[in-house]
Amino acid sequence: MSKTAEKKGELIVVSGFSGVGKGTIIGRAMQARDNFAFSVSATTRAPREGEEHGVQYFFLTREDFEQKIAAGEFLEYAEYSGNYYGTLRSYVDDLISTGKNVVLDVDYRGAFAIDANDARARLIFIIPPSAEALYARLTGRGTETEESIIKRINQAITEADQAEKYNCILVNDDLDRAVEDFLAIVDDPALDRQFYEKNLALIQPIKSGLKQILEDLRGPQEGELE
Ligand code: 5GP
Repeated sequence: MSKTAEKKGELIVVSGFSGVGKGTIIGRAMQARDNFAFSVSATTRAPREGEEHGVQYFFLTREDFEQKIAAGEFLEYAEYSGNYYGTLRSYVDDLISTGKNVVLDVDYRGAFAIDANDARARLIFIIPPSAEALYARLTGRGTETEESIIKRINQAITEADQAEKYNCILVNDDLDRAVEDFLAIVDDPALDRQFYEKNLALIQPIKSGLKQILEDLRGPQEGELE
């Protein structure tokens, strides 16, 4: 456990392509340091088996959630498949005031909403070293159907255009190195810009590479979605 923390924590918003390893990087960072906290979101969906209030999510009624939206209590929220999900400002504030670095794993829409609502937010986008590396990771999981891989690649192509609006771009090539970089960045906000400038040029080639992979995958097939 950390001693009395005088310094306030950082608000770190992490996004990245599906399969890029952001969950692993965040998990390792949290193991390495005791001043990291992963934000627990609120949702209106029912708990799944084994899920506990306050652990995986804060489970709220729709009425409660909507009251909190009206009261401006969310840093961001979104609706998926008929359920609300959102990040409670008070939860994040409490952690930060005790010196915890709060890490939020959200997509670019959530990231930009948080950025608009909270000046403390530092947005980090995690990318693979290349399109081929991302494809290898997606297929290497062995759990994804081709349809799901195509969907994820399409999503990554859209997200690539958003990455340049982040404060920082981090490459996950070697995992240990990426975790080390992530920790260094969290500790020193001045590194946001350095990593951004170093890695920005990788984005467009990754995007083109992903488009090529999609074309190759779709190749001779007919009747695919555009
Ligand atoms: P699940 O119901 O499978 O736990 O999550 C469904 C979706 O909600 C996932 O894509 C997850 O990333 C997203 N989600 C979870 N918490 C939040 C949140 O606080 N804000 C937003 N915008 N999305 C969230």
